[in-house]
Amino acid sequence: MSSAAHPLLEVEDLCVEFRTRRGTVRAVDGLSYTLREGETLALLGESGSGKSVAAQAVMGLLDTPPAHITRGAVRLRGDDLLAMSPARRRAVRGRRISMIFQDALTALNPVLSVGDQLAEMYRVHRGLGRRAALAEAVALMDRVRIPAAARRVHDHPHQFSGGMRQRVMIAMALALDPEVVIADEPTTALDVTVQAQIMRLLAQLQRETAMGLLLITHDLGVVAETADRITVMYAGRTVESARAEDLYTRPGHPYTRGLLDSVPRLDRLGRPLVPIAGAPPLPTSVPAGCAFHPRCPRAEARCGSEAPPFHPLPTPGHRSACHFAEEVHRVPVD
Ligand code: SF4
Repeated sequence: MSSAAHPLLEVEDLCVEFRTRRGTVRAVDGLSYTLREGETLALLGESGSGKSVAAQAVMGLLDTPPAHITRGAVRLRGDDLLAMSPARRRAVRGRRISMIFQDALTALNPVLSVGDQLAEMYRVHRGLGRRAALAEAVALMDRVRIPAAARRVHDHPHQFSGGMRQRVMIAMALALDPEVVIADEPTTALDVTVQAQIMRLLAQLQRETAMGLLLITHDLGVVAETADRITVMYAGRTVESARAEDLYTRPGHPYTRGLLDSVPRLDRLGRPLVPIAGAPPLPTSVPAGCAFHPRCPRAEARCGSEAPPFHPLPTPGHRSACHFAEEVHRVPVD
C-alpha cells in the first residue's frame, strides 16, 4: 500500500550482478539510500562505480539476462518495485518515477518534432486529443524555460542547441508529474555555463513540484549548489554518505577527499589540482579488503585484507566505510 508515511524512495542493500561468459561481475554491492520528498540526493562516483546500473535497476530498465538483481529492495512510498509484475512496473515508469538521460540526441526521436514527442506522453497516458496534447506540450516547454515555445514546438531535435535539447529531456521526464526524477549525468555533454543553467533549472523545478531528485554524477563540482545529501560509490559499494555541507567541509573517506581535491575552485586559483592516482578497478577484478586501497594515500596493511565497516561519524546521518574514518573526518577541507 503506498502511503505518505513511507519515505519517498528507499533502496536497501541492492546487489546487481552481470552473468557473462567470462564469469559473474557484481556491479552494485549492497547499495542503500533514502530519498525524501523535495530532496536532492547525489549519487556520486567515477565511471564504473555502479551508479548508473543502480539507477537503471531502480527504473526497471536492466536487461535480464545478463543483469540479475540478487539481493535487496527498492520501495517507492512503500511499494516494492522489485516485486511488481512487468506491466505494473511499466505503469510506474514515467508516471511515478522518471529519468532524464545524459544524451538527449540519442534519447529523442530525430524524425518527430519535439512537440509531437511531448504530446505523445499526454495522448498515451492521459488520453488527450491531438490539439489538447500539443497545448500541454507547449505549456511544458514553457515550464522548462524554452523560449518561444509555441513556435518551437514544431521543431525537430537537431534544430535545438545541446542545452535546449536537455530542457526537452527534462520536460519529457516531468510530463506526468512524477514523484521521483532520476537525472543520469544530465549535464555531461554541455559546456560549463549551460551546465549551471540546467542545474539551476532542475533546482527551480524541484522547488515548484516537491519531487525527489536523484542526481547521478561523477563531478562533485556540478552538484555543489544543488544536492542536499550525497552518497559516494566506489567499485559498486557505498563508501560515504552525508549531508552535502558536511561532505564538502569534513569528508570522512580518503576517496571523497581525493575527489574534492581534484575539483577546480575559484578560491584556490593558482594552486595545482591533485588528481587521485591510478584508475578505478575493473568490476572483474575488485581488490580485496578496502577496494580503494591500491589508490589510497592513507592505506595501511590491514586495508588490503579487511573490508571496512560503514562507520557512523559524529555529524548526523554521516557514515564512511574507512578504517580511519574518524581521523579523516577530523581534518576540515581547507
Ligand atoms: Fe584508505 Fe584504508 Fe580507508 Fe580504504 S580503509 S579508504 S585504503 S585508509
